Amino acid sequence: MKAMVLKNISAVEERPLELMDLPEPVPRRGQIQVRVSTCGVCHTELDEIEGRVSPSRFPMVLGHEIVGRVERLGPGAGKFRKGDRVGISWINWACGRCSFCLKGEENLCDRAKWTGKDAFGGYAQHTVVSEDFAYAIPERFADVEAAPLLCAGVIGYRALRLSGMQDGRVLGLYGFGASAHIVIQVARYQYPHCKVFVFTRSHRKEHRDLANELGADWIGAPGDTPPQKLDCAIDFTPVGESVRDALGNLQKGGRLVVDAIRKVTPIPELDYAEHLWHEKELKSVANVTRRDAQEFLPLAAQIPIMPETREFRLEEANEALILLKEGGVRGAAVLRIPE
Ligand SMILES: [Zn+2]
Ligand SMILES: [Zn+2]
Repeated sequence: MKAMVLKNISAVEERPLELMDLPEPVPRRGQIQVRVSTCGVCHTELDEIEGRVSPSRFPMVLGHEIVGRVERLGPGAGKFRKGDRVGISWINWACGRCSFCLKGEENLCDRAKWTGKDAFGGYAQHTVVSEDFAYAIPERFADVEAAPLLCAGVIGYRALRLSGMQDGRVLGLYGFGASAHIVIQVARYQYPHCKVFVFTRSHRKEHRDLANELGADWIGAPGDTPPQKLDCAIDFTPVGESVRDALGNLQKGGRLVVDAIRKVTPIPELDYAEHLWHEKELKSVANVTRRDAQEFLPLAAQIPIMPETREFRLEEANEALILLKEGGVRGAAVLRIPE
C-alpha cells in the first residue's frame, strides 16, 4: 500500500514525509482492516513531526482523523461488516482496567495508544484498529466532511463541555482553525442565546470571514479586549500568549480550557490579581474518550455541522502541513487517499 511515512523528527518545512510502499497491515484478533478514503490533517501532526510529541517508533504513519470502509475482519471481530463506513480517532486503544479507565477517563490512561503516534494511522491506503475503537459515521456526511469531525470536532466538543458553557453565557474562542470552526456551530446549536467572541490573527482574512459566516458576535485579534468579559473560553492556539490574554479577559468565576497537546512558545508570567484571582479557573483538555466520539458524531449530524474543508492529495501531505503551520487553511485540511 502507498503511505506517507515519517522516518525522523524534522522541521516540517523540510517536507519530511516520504511516499513509500508498505505491506498491507493484517487485522489481528478483534481488529478490523480499513481501506482509508480520507484522513484529516491535525495540528498534532506538526507536534509529532517537530518532536514536541514524538511518535513512539519510526518509521511512523501519522494521521488520526480517518474515514474509510471495512475491508477485512480479524478473528473474533463482529461489530462491523465488510463495506461498512467507519471512522477512527486519536484514541487507538486503552487498557480498560486502570483507575482512569474504570471511571470513564480513558483519555488519561497511562497505557493508552494513540493513532498515528503509537499505531500506524491514516496517511496510508489501509490501517487496522480494534473494532471497539472505530465508529459508525452518520450518513449525511461525505467522507471528506466526516474526517475533521473525528479529532477537531470530537476534541472541540470535549473542550466545550469542560468549559462549563451554558446558555446565555459569553464564550471566547482563541484561534479559529479546524476545531474552533466546528465548536462555534455546536455552541450556536446547544446554547442559542449565548454570545461567541472569536480571537484570530488579524492578517488571516480567511479565518475572520469564516467566523463571520458562522455567526460570531464579535471578532478581534488575540490581544484585543472584547466588548464583554468571557464566562468561558477555549484556547486552540499553539502559542503561550493566548493563555494569559484569555485569563485576562475572563469574567469573575470564569474558566479557560486550553485545547492543545503542546504549546510552541512558553506561557508568559501571570499576574495573580489580574489573571487568576476572583476564582478564575484554568484547565487543559487531553485526548478524547470513545464516549466523546459516540456522543458527538450523532449530534454533528443532528445540528448539522457543516465542516469547511480543503482537500489535498495524499502525496501533498507535506504541503498541507506547511500551510497548516502558517495558519493558511480555512477550516480543515483533509487528505484524499487514492484507491
Ligand atoms: Zn488531532
Ligand atoms: Zn487504562
